[in-house]
Amino acid sequence: MSNVEKSDMENLPEILTAFEQALELERELGTRTVECDRALLVPVSSATRAAPPALEQPAARPLPSATSVAALATGGTPVVPVAATSAALPTAAELTACTRCDLHGLGRQHVVPGQGNADSPDFMFIGEAPGADEDRQGLAFVGAAGQFLTKMIAAMGYTREQIFIANICKCRPPNNRTPNPQEMEACLPYLRRQIAAIRPKCIVLLGRTAMSGLFPTQRIRRGTWYEYEGIPTIATFHPSYIIRFNPLTDAASLRTAKLEVWNTLKLALAKLGKQPPSKK
Ligand code: URA
Repeated sequence: MSNVEKSDMENLPEILTAFEQALELERELGTRTVECDRALLVPVSSATRAAPPALEQPAARPLPSATSVAALATGGTPVVPVAATSAALPTAAELTACTRCDLHGLGRQHVVPGQGNADSPDFMFIGEAPGADEDRQGLAFVGAAGQFLTKMIAAMGYTREQIFIANICKCRPPNNRTPNPQEMEACLPYLRRQIAAIRPKCIVLLGRTAMSGLFPTQRIRRGTWYEYEGIPTIATFHPSYIIRFNPLTDAASLRTAKLEVWNTLKLALAKLGKQPPSKK
């Protein structure tokens, strides 16, 4: 046995434990299938086994249509934009007429107020700004990042309709650039009104723009508790950050980031005296 094989064997229990934990995390986050490069299926010791089968080129996957993405992102249930249940909630009409910053004239198709349960939901998730899919549909988080957010919400035991999803900016910045400080500041009064009217029990900030947008004068750290107008508030990675890791080449970073998100979501649940649903 070579040294390499010996150390492989010695490390096997740790490798298997890490693998088991990674699978467990995926299961908790709702993943039911995994992509795998056939090359990774090559036996550990090819000297003692038959040669692996020739690699096949996977067929190109068609891009999902906007409708199928929306259906996926909402778990198959169409998300209905929230009705203005309170005079203080900014309506789509009010936001459409807004000219407080330049974004209204930079090619947006729809304003995206946010949607979900506006009646004191357990959680309000706050992202950055609409992307192309959101701009097209007038709904927050219905694109690829939204699919991952849906998984996060489901792993916590909720549906998108039970919580509220909003953004710091209600209009899409051109080319999905990060909103600038002036745009964020101009839009903040709308978010403040939403939070005041909706009264979520806990706020989860998704990514840096949400962190600095809601707390412009404070340095916010992920996984640490803050209060916004008396509401417990915690921050974690933006779903776009998670989905940009390549699961084949960045598996370790992906796992670390997902684990951090999941731990923060569990903290958020625990804040309300809840736990993730038991696994089947
Ligand atoms: N990213 C966001 O921050 N918000 C969305 O609504 C979609 C993508």
